[in-house]
Amino acid sequence: MKEYDVVIVGGGLAGLTSAIALSKEGFDVLVFEPNKYPHHKVCGEYVSNEVVPYLESLGVALDKAGAVPITDFQISAVDGRFAEAKLPLGGIGISRYALDHTLYKRALEVGVNFIFSKVSSINFQNDAFQVNTASEVYKAFIVIGAYGKRDALDKTLNRNFSFQKHAWLAVKAHYKSPDFSDNLVALHNFPGGYGGLSKTESGAVNFCYLAHYDSFKKYPNIDDFNQKIVAQNKNLDSFFKVSEPLFEKPLTIAQIAFERKEPVVNHILMCGDTAGLIHPLCGNGMAMAIHSAKLASDCIVTYLESKSKDRSKLEKDYQKRWHTTFSKRLWYGRKLQQVLLHKKWVNSGVGLAASSGKILRYIIRKTHGKPIV
Ligand SMILES: Cc1cc2nc3c(=O)[nH]c(=O)nc-3n(C[C@H](O)[C@H](O)[C@H](O)COP(=O)(O)OP(=O)(O)OC[C@H]3O[C@@H](n4cnc5c(N)ncnc54)[C@H](O)[C@@H]3O)c2cc1C
Repeated sequence: MKEYDVVIVGGGLAGLTSAIALSKEGFDVLVFEPNKYPHHKVCGEYVSNEVVPYLESLGVALDKAGAVPITDFQISAVDGRFAEAKLPLGGIGISRYALDHTLYKRALEVGVNFIFSKVSSINFQNDAFQVNTASEVYKAFIVIGAYGKRDALDKTLNRNFSFQKHAWLAVKAHYKSPDFSDNLVALHNFPGGYGGLSKTESGAVNFCYLAHYDSFKKYPNIDDFNQKIVAQNKNLDSFFKVSEPLFEKPLTIAQIAFERKEPVVNHILMCGDTAGLIHPLCGNGMAMAIHSAKLASDCIVTYLESKSKDRSKLEKDYQKRWHTTFSKRLWYGRKLQQVLLHKKWVNSGVGLAASSGKILRYIIRKTHGKPIV
């Protein structure tokens, strides 16, 4: 049986980024991903500029993929009042269809191996891993868990959040909306949720929202929910009135968990959402996924190149770097979400932010990092 240096479970942003970084360093890398590329994914599709130089250093050219620059931010309360600010660092608009596909093509160029299959369990024994699909077993020295927000694997690893019910769901679709500004990312609140609008490389506007199940269960049909609940914010009502849906039906995901997770579980280095999910309103989850992939890859390179191969040092190093980099950001994200979903707080918060762009820029800085290379 072939033994890989690194097996990566999940070929989303965290998985593909770490695969490229490690393969470029000459290691033998295998990625498991159930879905063939390209494919759409539920996501806000605004990527913070903090990770663009790092992706470029890996040979991933997002400008060539058509990413559009985003410089302006707008937020509105349920009553439609809004505040605006220039984004301190800015970002890009690119669909997950194009972004993940661009990373996948780069991964193939640098020699990453792919198996399009779901991993069902991961065992650690005698200082090595056995990674199991429904029909095969693979061996690896290192495993990165990059399988997203939630998967059956979490139960096999006894992760607490996987045994609980979670009340958040998300809906995403692309729209033809010719009047929507190219350089804007807009965050609009509605009762029990909020949604982001921004342009993608194709010119389509992505609308992706998060809603609490208590709000959704009153109108469990998405069209009804959009009309009766989402459109209570007049900015979103206007958007629906002038826009034409481009998807046959929206994509949805449920059971989204924002609980604290651990970056190392059963010797597996967790990356991206598998290690911790920031509230989507921060627009920083993708940057965090890519950044955590860099942290894990850097630690793994040091480990694989060292003579002593001290696994416990590898795990401690990664854990420490992960917490130092992300813990505060996740805390701010949680607090911000509490404010945003509280009707009175969000109205007065947006009113305050409308009076000074400084407040908004301060909050954005607290949930974002500095550019990484
Ligand atoms: C509503 C919403 C809006 C958002 N908007 C934004 C935004 O505007 N900007 C932003 O930066 N972030 C946003 N995010 C966050 C962002 O989507 C995530 O942080 C990001 O996708 C994390 O990437 P990842 O690689 O960790 O996971 P993913 O991209 O989810 O990749 C995980 C991969 O693992 C695969 N997988 C799952 N199980 C298995 C298995 N058992 N075996 C093998 N493979 C498996 C999946 O098929 C998937 O391809 C948003 C999130 C939500 C919920």
